[in-house]
Amino acid sequence: MSPHTKLYIPGPVEVSEKTLRALSQPMIAHRSSRFRELYAAIHVKLQALFETEQPVFLSTSSAWGVMEASIRNLVNKKVLNCMCGAFSDKWFDVSKRCGKEAESLQVEWGQPIRPQDVEAKLREGGFDAVTLVHNETSCGVKNPLQEIAAVVRKFPEVLLIVDTVSSFSTESIPMDELGIDVLLTGSQKALALPPGLAIFSVSQRAFERAVSVPARGYYFDFLEFKNNQSRNMTPTTPTLPHIYALQSKLEDIFNEGLEKRYARHRHLNSLVHDWVRHNGFEFFAPEGYRSISLTCVTNNRKVDITAWIERLREKHHMVIDGGYGKLKGKTFRISNMGDETEESITRMLMALSDTLKAA
Ligand SMILES: *Cc1c(COP(=O)(O)O)cnc(C)c1O
Repeated sequence: MSPHTKLYIPGPVEVSEKTLRALSQPMIAHRSSRFRELYAAIHVKLQALFETEQPVFLSTSSAWGVMEASIRNLVNKKVLNCMCGAFSDKWFDVSKRCGKEAESLQVEWGQPIRPQDVEAKLREGGFDAVTLVHNETSCGVKNPLQEIAAVVRKFPEVLLIVDTVSSFSTESIPMDELGIDVLLTGSQKALALPPGLAIFSVSQRAFERAVSVPARGYYFDFLEFKNNQSRNMTPTTPTLPHIYALQSKLEDIFNEGLEKRYARHRHLNSLVHDWVRHNGFEFFAPEGYRSISLTCVTNNRKVDITAWIERLREKHHMVIDGGYGKLKGKTFRISNMGDETEESITRMLMALSDTLKAA
């Protein structure tokens, strides 16, 4: 068998041996007291991570399930989709496909969403929801969430839906304090679990809105999730292996400690940034708006990225990403999410230098 290729792409990220073992525990009945105890035990920890008193839900879907569900559950009038990259752009498309009225606030890929632009747009009136991708994985931009949340809070009718798929648990995101109405994440990025589970929390205001929104469907109905969670259950049969893996991951997270985990991500990200500067590359996102869980690098040295990554794979059994969609070849992306350590990031950066030379 060929050796395992370690993933340094920004999702899916490398999954630890401990997590892989957790996935393979025997199944239990999802209406049994054992499952309910399991959910109750992880729920307390999830609330601490989400920094919320609201219920936290487990969705057997990828993140897009909950991203689409947020539109279907909460938009009666019109949604403002803030767009600065592939995932945030797609959300606008999804809003329209759900048959909702939607407007876009588009900035160039690589640029952040500016709070004053959100405010100007909301002042035009008619909106009842805003979508924001906190950490735009496709181009390494971290949007100013706190400032944007403060703007949205000036409009009592407008709900704030935030995707933290690639930033969740890499820094503090205080849902209740910021007044976020839906906070959602997926399993395969910042949490370093296999793909297939989404985790989200919903504010009281958002539940009240959902009651008034017709055609919420069943599978992703927020009120179904709420009803079931109150009895420590999920609406449908959940992906039990992921929930075991999440239990194991939450153990890891709280054993490390939140502040240490956040500091580790900042530190590992700074090692990548040092490498970028040292090797004469530039950052795709402007200073102050760069992600701390991944780095999107401009290919200003005009390296043949595909050939470089192939050498990296062949010689060192590692991969980074060669650019998302229209940024392919123009940028490359390096993840420092999940369980990476100073040792594992340093080893990867040395391998990058080694294989870059031949470029
Ligand atoms: C990967 C990603 C998604 C989509 O996740 P799926 O698991 O494919 O549904 C959404 N938002 C962001 C920011 C992402 O990085």
